[in-house]
Amino acid sequence: MTRRRRIYEGKAKVLFEGPEPGTLVQYFKDDATAFNGEKKSTITGKGVLNNRISEHLMNRLTEIGIQNHFIRRLNMREQLIKEVEIIPVEVIVRNIAAGSICSRLGITEGTSLPRTIIEYCFKSDELNDPIVSEEHITAFGWASPEELDEIMAMSLRVNDFLCGLFIGIGIKLIDFKLEFGRFFDGEEIQVILADEISPDNCRLWDSETNEKLDKDRFRRDLGGVEDAYQEVARRLGILPESGPGDLKGTTAIQ
Ligand code: UDP
Repeated sequence: MTRRRRIYEGKAKVLFEGPEPGTLVQYFKDDATAFNGEKKSTITGKGVLNNRISEHLMNRLTEIGIQNHFIRRLNMREQLIKEVEIIPVEVIVRNIAAGSICSRLGITEGTSLPRTIIEYCFKSDELNDPIVSEEHITAFGWASPEELDEIMAMSLRVNDFLCGLFIGIGIKLIDFKLEFGRFFDGEEIQVILADEISPDNCRLWDSETNEKLDKDRFRRDLGGVEDAYQEVARRLGILPESGPGDLKGTTAIQ
């Protein structure tokens, strides 16, 4: 067994040093947290499903020219990614009102928004990821105005593409969170999409029934979390090779 250097451990993923310079291994855990870590649990198989779902969506985005950190999947729980310098801003893209926008602005969950709304949050667990404006982001130097323009344009493209992809499999993309990072390709620094795209950071509702197929099942104790993630994977046509019976997958080599 090789021992790899652990670079960072987050709530749902671990990053290890990659096999080549400029790469990392992203390991997907089964741990689930909500409300900034106040609620914790383990959802068997979640990491395996998110690894596959994120791989699939990042690959589709690569096909339409949206640069992202995904290189290839290594095994059931790990993917090789490009090392980036994470921009400390969470980009929230909303199509239909749900979650924090409802309580913040008094909007009923499920209301279609007049247009896609982008919000930014400063990535800080201590401060509970506060919502910030473009002014804060550029004034404090978290991203330059040019980088922010790029982030906004990429986020809208990702949204348009994913809305279409999901509607084709009977799912409404309500909202989601993206993260971006700076990648040095040997010549210039580019802003690329990072992190993951999965039911952990998207709200996905069945188009017919509005049934929630995402992390809100965990946040709101609705049960059937793993089944919901599996349903998303099934509709995307990407259940793990070994089938839904073996979602524990391999453990990290440390
Ligand atoms: N989100 C996320 N990580 C966060 C905050 C939000 O992935 O730290 C995702 C969340 O899953 C949802 C969208 O961003 O798809 C909008 O979340 P919201 O601001 O409504 O916050 P929440 O209701 O999840 O606290």
